[in-house]
Amino acid sequence: MSSEPGGADADDATDTAVDTPAAAAEGARDAAEHPLVVEGLHKTFGGITAVDGASFSVAEGSLTGLIGPNGAGKSTTFNCITGVHTPTSGRIRFRGDDITGMAPHAIAQRGLVRTFQIARELPEMTVLENMMLAPKGQAGERLSYAVVPGLRDRVVEQEEELLERAWQQLEFFEIDHLAEEYAGTLSGGQRKLLEMARALMTDPEVVLLDEPLAGVNPTLEEKLLDRIHELREMGNTFLFVEHDMDVIMNNCEHVIVMHQGSVLAEGTPEQVTSDERVVEAYLGGDV
Ligand code: ADP
Ligand code: MG
Repeated sequence: MSSEPGGADADDATDTAVDTPAAAAEGARDAAEHPLVVEGLHKTFGGITAVDGASFSVAEGSLTGLIGPNGAGKSTTFNCITGVHTPTSGRIRFRGDDITGMAPHAIAQRGLVRTFQIARELPEMTVLENMMLAPKGQAGERLSYAVVPGLRDRVVEQEEELLERAWQQLEFFEIDHLAEEYAGTLSGGQRKLLEMARALMTDPEVVLLDEPLAGVNPTLEEKLLDRIHELREMGNTFLFVEHDMDVIMNNCEHVIVMHQGSVLAEGTPEQVTSDERVVEAYLGGDV
């Protein structure tokens, strides 16, 4: 991944961007049913166009699949949505607010997080330490608690809450027995579980999963999918990149197909898999 100006280091300048009243009204209507709306997203890297006008929205409480041949722009779209990359143009709206170009931690605080295609644990730290690193912008990091009365207590309280939440997540994903192990010693599948557990530390509403099942054995895959459905029943919304069409067919009610940086088709799994353009894109692509 490239580190570029803007992206992760950008301040929240666009947070206060003023839209036209009509656009704002439309955004508010859509936001009630679609917490995440992507409008005309473009992202170029030098001469390469990774995302080329992608527009779609993700329905509240859904498990929406995002599929497409390798290089279609799925991961870059995730990067743009979650502030890892600054879009070249286009808009990202979350719950009606324009979050385009905001920093990843600011977006996460609003309740929108992602996992990465390649799990990003810190191998030299324990599983529990990795979990504790996940949430950003806590009182102790923002302010010098030595000079603010009562703040030290709040920081300690917050640390305790975080620790409790970390254990809850580790138990939920059944990796609590690995808490004191160095993350570098985990299997590929266990890393994916840790990656998801970490993403959930900030108690997000919408979670973007980039190939969460890649390299995961069938038993663990079943467990992960069960957890996703369980979380969904508790109110989470998921956008889910996955190669395995059987997994998409069996788990997603809505599927968005990307091809060459834009949305080629969307609909139910049955609709998109019987769409000739989709079949052609996959046959022509490197899948
Ligand atoms: P997908 O996740 O659908 O496989 P990606 O979003 O990873 O696709 O990639 C889309 C295109 O953008 C590819 O051609 C890829 O090589 C290119 N790309 C992605 N990230 C970068 C980057 N940081 N720098 C340059 N090109 C990139
Ligand atoms: Mg990808």
